[in-house]
Amino acid sequence: MSQAIDKVKQALSHLEIITDTHQITKLSLDYYHFSPILHEKLKDKRGEIVVRPSTEEEVLQIAQTCVKYKVPLTVRGAGTGNYGQCIPLQGGVIVDMTKMQQILWLKPGVASVEPGVKMAAFDKQARQIGWELRMAPSTYRIATIGGFIGGGSVGMGSVNYGQLRDRGNLLALRIVTLEDEPRVIELRGDEVQKVNHAYGTNGIITQLEIPLAPAYPWAEIIVVFDEFMQAARFGQKLGNSDGIAKKLISIHDASICRYFHHLHDDLPEHKHAALLMVSEYDLEAFHELVNEYNGNVTYLKNAEEASKGISLLEFTWNHTTLHARSIDPTITYLQTFYFTVDNVEHFYHHFGDEVMIHLEFLKFQGKVIPGGLQLFHFTTEERVNEIIRYHEENGAGIANPHTYILEQGGRKTSDSLQLDFKKEVDPYGLMNPGKIAIQN
Ligand SMILES: Cc1cc2nc3c(=O)[nH]c(=O)nc-3n(C[C@H](O)[C@H](O)[C@H](O)COP(=O)(O)OP(=O)(O)OC[C@H]3O[C@@H](n4cnc5c(N)ncnc54)[C@H](O)[C@@H]3O)c2cc1C
Repeated sequence: MSQAIDKVKQALSHLEIITDTHQITKLSLDYYHFSPILHEKLKDKRGEIVVRPSTEEEVLQIAQTCVKYKVPLTVRGAGTGNYGQCIPLQGGVIVDMTKMQQILWLKPGVASVEPGVKMAAFDKQARQIGWELRMAPSTYRIATIGGFIGGGSVGMGSVNYGQLRDRGNLLALRIVTLEDEPRVIELRGDEVQKVNHAYGTNGIITQLEIPLAPAYPWAEIIVVFDEFMQAARFGQKLGNSDGIAKKLISIHDASICRYFHHLHDDLPEHKHAALLMVSEYDLEAFHELVNEYNGNVTYLKNAEEASKGISLLEFTWNHTTLHARSIDPTITYLQTFYFTVDNVEHFYHHFGDEVMIHLEFLKFQGKVIPGGLQLFHFTTEERVNEIIRYHEENGAGIANPHTYILEQGGRKTSDSLQLDFKKEVDPYGLMNPGKIAIQN
């Protein structure tokens, strides 16, 4: 342990501090290993100590101490990120926010929470007044709201509300800075974009004000189809069906369905599947749509039944990759905006068996479009880059999950708003160093 870390430890000895090597290893890593490329680069990275604050005042003390001794600080929620966002590249202090889990207030349409609140736990309370989170990742049960804002993008509900970055999906934030005299700053409205999806590089979020969605009783349904493109077109039509309330439209090629062992009885061999959440009130109209596309419903649980077992959510978004990798660890993935079903058809035929397509429908600039987290067997980094290039040259957008650099993932360019804010609130470059290209 370096001298500086030793001093930090002494200065913060009144807080919960973890120094056990096994625990530090666990709390240094995330799900970066979904990418063999990131695995090689990040597998040995560790923080030196972990601190667990339970109040904003304690976060201020941690910030002040790290600034005083010029020690890097990496914030962490539940550590379910996929790109090593919370893996410290230069050692230092890991600040685990999971003890800050108070719902400060909750009213129809809006809530204020601490960052360590787990999403499913939040929804349990919000539903009691008829509301729920607008969107949530498939790691909903364990991920924190602060971590979703820091490192996430989309999830169930995105078919209605788009991406986290869309104006209105985050109302306000309080952050602690890493200046000589750390401050608490409140950001509202467009100003939240300074910190939204910044990988914890420009302020420690201590409170969030979030908008909510009306909570419907969501039935969980599987529909199977003979042809993949028939399933894809059904997904688009359901997305476009304004009279049917839905929260999740997830389409899987038959080659992917075979990885869903828990759903074995509901996924006949060689069939392609739609995994869906649709309002119980709209099931009659929904069944008519299924008939129009010659689909066959193999699984239908009403909201009450669905809340008891494993949710279909946990087979969608990046949980699809998790299930596939648990059976075949050579599998990796991409994150794609296909924009149109015709594009999907093009890539489906172009890559054939090499790329197994998994679509997630989401709202993008006011329209429902197919996104996807397609799967393929990793061979070389060159081949991954070729597959990415082919998509980009043929009308799709890729949010590259094989990089831990913020600007090289979904964004593609430096965000001057975030960078300028970083200079102001983290003048010594101590926050999660190495994750921003321009800083390296
Ligand atoms: C199987 C699987 C499925 C997934 N599905 C989805 C999905 O559907 N949609 C999606 O968007 N993502 C998905 N993810 C990625 C991830 O689970 C989500 O983004 C999740 O919301 C991250 O929350 P977390 O609490 O684990 O954050 P962490 O991984 O702990 O942190 C994420 C980032 O936020 C920063 N951060 C955390 N807390 C704070 C804070 N208080 N202040 C400032 N910065 C902070 C961290 O430094 C880090 O850079 C998936 C991952 C896995 C492994």
